[in-house]
Amino acid sequence: MSRYILTVTPPTPNGDLHMGHLSGPFLAADVMRRQLIAQGHDVLMVCYSDDYQSYLPRKAEALGRDPAEYSHQMQRAITLSAELAGVEFDAFPTTQDNPWFAESVNHYLDCISDDLATETVQVHRCPSCSKWGHEAWGRGNCNVCGESSDASQCEGCAAKPTPYLMTDMTCINCGTPMQLTTQRAEVWHLGKRFDALAARHAKRGMRDDLRAYLAEALAKQDDSWPITRPGDAGLPVARFGGDPVHTWFMGLAGYRAAIKAHLEDAPQHGRFADWWSPDTQLVHFLGFDCSYSHAVAYGVQQICDPDGPDVGRFVTNRFLKLDGDDFSTSRGNAVWIKDVTGLYPLDAIRLFTALHAPETQAENFSLAAFRDWIDSSYTPLRKAVSQALTSAAQDNRDNRADWQNSAPAIAYRAATRLDAFSMQAMARAVMDLFAQIQTAPSDTHASGYRLLAEMAAPLMPVLGALLTESKTHECV
Ligand SMILES: [Zn+2]
Ligand SMILES: [Zn+2]
Repeated sequence: MSRYILTVTPPTPNGDLHMGHLSGPFLAADVMRRQLIAQGHDVLMVCYSDDYQSYLPRKAEALGRDPAEYSHQMQRAITLSAELAGVEFDAFPTTQDNPWFAESVNHYLDCISDDLATETVQVHRCPSCSKWGHEAWGRGNCNVCGESSDASQCEGCAAKPTPYLMTDMTCINCGTPMQLTTQRAEVWHLGKRFDALAARHAKRGMRDDLRAYLAEALAKQDDSWPITRPGDAGLPVARFGGDPVHTWFMGLAGYRAAIKAHLEDAPQHGRFADWWSPDTQLVHFLGFDCSYSHAVAYGVQQICDPDGPDVGRFVTNRFLKLDGDDFSTSRGNAVWIKDVTGLYPLDAIRLFTALHAPETQAENFSLAAFRDWIDSSYTPLRKAVSQALTSAAQDNRDNRADWQNSAPAIAYRAATRLDAFSMQAMARAVMDLFAQIQTAPSDTHASGYRLLAEMAAPLMPVLGALLTESKTHECV
């Protein structure tokens, strides 16, 4: 038995969870969590409410709300939606209420202190309303890929743009073109650790797009990153005269603080020192656009902290589209978790989401296609498996070994490996096995459907509960 910590990148607390979130890190992490627990491992899955990014005060200001009160309410909405989707976190604290958050940020600042320097950096600022263009308040064109981006991290190419090379930077608050100016900031020279980080990544499986991204990013050994953003959102830190450290530096601290707070409340799960240790396996689930913060910056933080978990694995996802358009909380173009879970079976939502997960490229979600699929595919599968699990009928001989050697079962096992994890491949294997069983002799069905239920359980928790119940009856 091993210990695993699974992390999910925090959604911006400026709205509720929608299907785009579910199709990315949320469902994938929960599927791995259920699968690891079924194998007998000890697992903690954590997220936290990202209260320090400047999109939060921007949204709160637009709504005339207090940012802290608003983020607290969104955190409650998000955790309830996750629960409704069967995504079960062990901890999902707010950062503002968690005393361990600031402690964890300072812990990593201590770890990397040798690589920090106070320097003059170039930043955009609005000459009219004085907003700084670090993140939410400014938008222009990414100097790497040319797409519309803030100056913090590009959703198009996952690069950390170079502010002075960005074009058409405009103030989101008042629409005025922003101007370049300078300010003093703490700059982290993390590139000097890239050789060591690349050696760790080389031992891990990851999706091809992340591998290619890291090869390019880690070749820049003179890379540096300002970690304070005076005048913008972040955690004020005393050692920097109260200047705020930005949210993208603090994610690993957020996960660490969530684990620490959880174990204080639930000491039966073990001691923090046993969990946050090199013996624990860490798996991060993240949108590809968070690759720099997670797979580069947090990787270096971990290298500088030998008492914590080793550099982990990174399971990335691309964007889900809604009828060909982008999901957008701000435009209200979304299918909300609370709505779909009120209308459709949970297992159907999860299995369909996994089948269409945007793991390495954008995928499309359509409510009409989902409804058709429930009728044509989900309902027959659910009915056949339920009947097999609740019926006393047995095969003439035990065909389990034959089914376990079938192509779908082999593909399924490959997709559950940590280094090649894919909930989409798991879901496809379930559908392929169903198709094979239907064309096989009927006296092989009982063992086929039992294996199918076992394979489907991490994806379909309601079916998983039925399987557990049927096993209990067998024991009696
Ligand atoms: Zn302005
Ligand atoms: Zn870009």
